[in-house]
Amino acid sequence: MLLKILGLIIIGFLIYLIFFKKSRKNDIKKDDKLISDEMVECPTCKTFISQKEGIVSSGKFYCSNDCLNKR
Ligand SMILES: [Zn+2]
Repeated sequence: MLLKILGLIIIGFLIYLIFFKKSRKNDIKKDDKLISDEMVECPTCKTFISQKEGIVSSGKFYCSNDCLNKR
């Protein structure tokens, strides 16, 4: 009787762990998508680049160092 209850608690805990891990992974994925998939326009050459590739300077994203220096 006691073993059965213990087993149920362990199984419930494992299910909770798996579910918690999955939901955490999804959250991280969502955050990654938000950062890397957002397209921004380079103010100098008007090329669209993803924020991940861009060079940030005073709140603007530049596609390359050339554009950053030409601004
Ligand atoms: Zn540019």
